[in-house]
Amino acid sequence: ATPTALMVGTGRGAQLGILIKGPEVLESTRRVDTVVLDKTGTVTTGRMALQDVYVAEGDDEKQVLRLAGALEHASEHPIAQAIAAGAQEQAGDLPVPEHFENVPGLGVRGRVEGHEVTVGRFPDTLPEGMARAKAEAEAEGRTAVVVARDGVALGVLTVADAIKETSAEAIRELRALGLTPYLLTGDNRAVAEAVARAVGIGPGEVIAEVLPEEKVDVVKRLQAEGRTVAMVGDGVNDAAALATADLGLAMGTGTDAAIEASDLTLVRGDLRVAADAIRLSRRTLTTIK
Ligand code: ADP
Ligand code: MG
Repeated sequence: ATPTALMVGTGRGAQLGILIKGPEVLESTRRVDTVVLDKTGTVTTGRMALQDVYVAEGDDEKQVLRLAGALEHASEHPIAQAIAAGAQEQAGDLPVPEHFENVPGLGVRGRVEGHEVTVGRFPDTLPEGMARAKAEAEAEGRTAVVVARDGVALGVLTVADAIKETSAEAIRELRALGLTPYLLTGDNRAVAEAVARAVGIGPGEVIAEVLPEEKVDVVKRLQAEGRTVAMVGDGVNDAAALATADLGLAMGTGTDAAIEASDLTLVRGDLRVAADAIRLSRRTLTTIK
C-alpha cells in the first residue's frame, strides 16, 4: 500500500462522513467479515420516550412514577432520561433520593422517602397482570422495566425507541458485501428480536441480555471462531467492546468514549456509512496493489 493511495482513501472517507484514525485502519477494515451492532443508539435512535404505565389495580400511577422518576433523574441512561422526563410531566416535582446507585445493564436502585426502590430488570416476581403487560410490550419491541418498592413490584413502565430509518438499508448493504451482522444488546431477548426482525437480522443473529462487561467477551468469542470482527456502537456500555474489536466504529452522535475507543467514526450516526467505509477500504487497497 502506497502512502499516497492510503491518504486518498482517508480523504475520500472524510467526504463520506467517516473520520479515520489513521491510514493503517483501512487494512483491518478490508478484512472484516462480521459486524456486531449495538442496538440502542446504533440501530435505534436511542432517544427514548415513556409510553405506558401499568400498576396493580387500585394503585396510584402517579406515585409509582414519582418513585421511579426520583431515582432515574440521577442517571444518564437514555431509559432513565425518558422515565424522569415522563414522571416530571405526569407527576410534577420529584422527591430527592436519600441514596442512589446506578447498576450498569440492570437499572438503578436507591432509597426514596424511606423505601428501597429499584427500577430496571431486577429479579422480581410479577403479579399476573404486570407480567402480561411486560411481555406484550416486549413482543412489540418496547423495553419494559419494573418499579419495585421494598422488594415488591409496584408497576411496569414501557419506553419506546425508534429504529433509525437507515438501519434496514444498512444491513442489506452489509450483507451484500458478504458480512454477517449480529445485534448485541443488554435488553430483553423479545425486544431485541422484534427490533432485529424490523431491520432484517435473524433470531440466530441476536445476542441479547448481555451485561455491559460481557460485551467484550462476545467480541472475543467471535474472534476465537476465526472471524475478523467490526463492532459498531455509541459508547454507552460498549466502549470496551469497541476497543477489543478488530475494527471499532463509533457513532458520531455517541459519547466521547466511543470515539476514543474506535478506529473509525461515522460522523452523522448513519449506519449505511459503515458499509461505505468497508467498500472504500476494499477499493482503496485494491487500487494500490
Ligand atoms: P443496551 O445494550 O441496549 O445499550 P443497557 O446494557 O444499557 O442496554 O441496559 C440493558 C437493560 O437494563 C435495559 O434494557 C433495561 O432493561 C435495563 N436498564 C439499564 N439501565 C436502566 C435504567 N437506568 N433504568 C431502568 N432500566 C435500566
Ligand atoms: Mg448502548
